[in-house]
Parts: sequence; structure tokens; C-alpha cells
Amino acid sequence: MPDVRLGFFVVPPAPQMSSLYDHSCTLCPLHERAKTVCVEASGQSTRLRTMIVGEAPGRNEDELGVPFIGRAGRLLDRALHMAFYPDSKFVLGRARRELFVTNAVKCRPQNNDNPDEMEIDACVSAYLTREIEAVNPTALLALGNVAAQALLGETGVSRLREEWHRLDSDAERYVLVTYHPAYVLYRGGTSGEAWPAFLADVLKFAQEVLHGSRGQDQTAL
Ligand code: SF4
Repeated sequence: MPDVRLGFFVVPPAPQMSSLYDHSCTLCPLHERAKTVCVEASGQSTRLRTMIVGEAPGRNEDELGVPFIGRAGRLLDRALHMAFYPDSKFVLGRARRELFVTNAVKCRPQNNDNPDEMEIDACVSAYLTREIEAVNPTALLALGNVAAQALLGETGVSRLREEWHRLDSDAERYVLVTYHPAYVLYRGGTSGEAWPAFLADVLKFAQEVLHGSRGQDQTAL
């Protein structure tokens, strides 16, 4: 996957991860109408042991083959920048270069419908599980119900976001669930009612990644 330029910055593919993805994948029906079959992750898998997991590609992501671009992606970039690089005014794309960003389901569902359980299971088994093994994250941020379903087998963002969840018993991996940025946009973006809670969750996630603060502040807005 080539670098993709978004405004002033470039979203790079995840280095040395391309062999994980099969652009001829036919494991579920979603490949049939996708422009990009199996959208690859972006960012790095090495510097920070972390993963940000969205739901599935939207129209822009399907066309360009990169996760989280378009308005929802810019909102996510803004929150990540404020959480990880609060003192940096000039490198808005830095978070996207340094953080591993992917989707639970790699092909776009038509009309942006939610993927069904079979589609989620197929894609998680084939790709997300292998991404987790390769990145070996200690902290994962699940954006929205599809990501929560894929990682934890549960939905209900408002309830799940109240605490960290252990991903599996064999490794020290913890998941924080928050709203999908498309939902935050739908509720008015940065001036809407969902933004403070979303930003607080991303800040909490960054604190864990940067300082290992999980458990010190379990309070959700
Ligand atoms: S959604 Fe995932 S499992 Fe289904 S065809 Fe695309 S890459 Fe394969």
C-alpha cells in the first residue's frame, strides 16, 4: 500500500505488515462490492505497543484503501493529537504516523451498514487476530460497537467505556471502549455533547500508553 497524503501530512502503511493482508480475500460476502478488498492498517507497529481499532471502512477508506480518513478520521486525528502530543502545535499527522490504526472488518459494508456477526467473526479470525499477534499491544482502543464486539464479544459503548477490559488471559492486554468518531460527528462534532466524553476516553487511553496509568483513574464522564 503506498503512502496516502491527507492535506498537509502523509498516512503511511504499517511497515512490514503487508504480508498479513490478502487483497483477494473471499472469506465473507463483503469482498463482492468493495473497491479495496482488505484495507490495510496504517501507522507503526513498533514504537508504541498499542492498537486503535475501528469498525469497517467507509466510502473514503474503501476508495483510497486507508483506514480512518475523511471527516471521522480527522476528528480522530484531532483527539489523538490532543492526547498524545498536547505540546505540539505543528505536526497534526504525527499521531497517525506513530499509532497503529486498523478496522475490525477490512472491507466496506454497503451503505455503511454494520457488518453482521459472521462477517465480523471471519475477518477477526483471518486478520485482526494476526494483527494483534504481530503488534503485541498492551493497550487497545475500540471505537464503537463493532470494534467492541470484535474484541470483547459484547456491545453497549455507554456501559463498556466505564472501565478497562482484559482482552485475553494469556497476555497483559487491556481494551478501552469509546464512541466511534462518526457518532461524535453525528452528535455535533467538537461542539457537540459526545465530544467531551470521547476526548476524555482518548486521553485516558493515552495516559495508559504513555505512563501505564490504568487503574488510577477509572472514572468515565
Ligand atoms: S471483510 Fe475481511 S473476511 Fe470479509 S472478504 Fe473482506 S477481508 Fe475477507
